[in-house]
Amino acid sequence: MDNDIARVLYSKADIKEACERLGKQLTKDYAGKRPLILSVLTGAMFFTTDVVREFDVYSEIDFIDVSSYKGGMESTGTVDLVSDLSEDVNGRDVLIIEDIVDTGRTLSYIVDLLYSRNAKSVKICTFLDKPAGRVVEAKADYVGFTVPKEFVVGYGLDYQGYYRNLPYVGVLKPEVYE
Ligand code: 5GP
Ligand code: MG
Ligand code: MG
Repeated sequence: MDNDIARVLYSKADIKEACERLGKQLTKDYAGKRPLILSVLTGAMFFTTDVVREFDVYSEIDFIDVSSYKGGMESTGTVDLVSDLSEDVNGRDVLIIEDIVDTGRTLSYIVDLLYSRNAKSVKICTFLDKPAGRVVEAKADYVGFTVPKEFVVGYGLDYQGYYRNLPYVGVLKPEVYE
């Protein structure tokens, strides 16, 4: 897999540092609350497991699976709910954990869904933020790294289902997808 990577953007050590920084901030901000952590499958599972272990409050973890990319390199423009969360969010402080915010469609879909079910608060913690890709308004409250408008893989992020298990984030060589 390493041979397919043109450039490493964030190393294992960079990622560890970002998780520790975000975990500290979240621990402060959620002190005294009992948030429901909502991890967005599949991409965010790597970031979720690392960041929650730095997040020192009583919390529950749930998952939601939505799809907009269908494995390719561009958002399809519609968001499908593949698998709903199992907890009741009525009155809960919900913290969404995402891998990357690009167009913002996935996040705004999930935020609307949670508020329509009477969540008390909804905040967003994303590993990567790609503000140049925004099509709809979506603002992350906690961001690991801000990335340029490039397609990245690794640490949960896939290309056609592969590269999620790379322990770092990188950019693919053009010949991989050309
Ligand atoms: P949005 O709905 O904000 O356009 O995109 C959200 C989803 O698109 C992310 O959760 C992720 O699965 C996928 N995505 C967006 N940008 C990238 C990227 O640069 N690389 C990969 N692998 N997936 C991306
Ligand atoms: Mg995602
Ligand atoms: Mg994907």
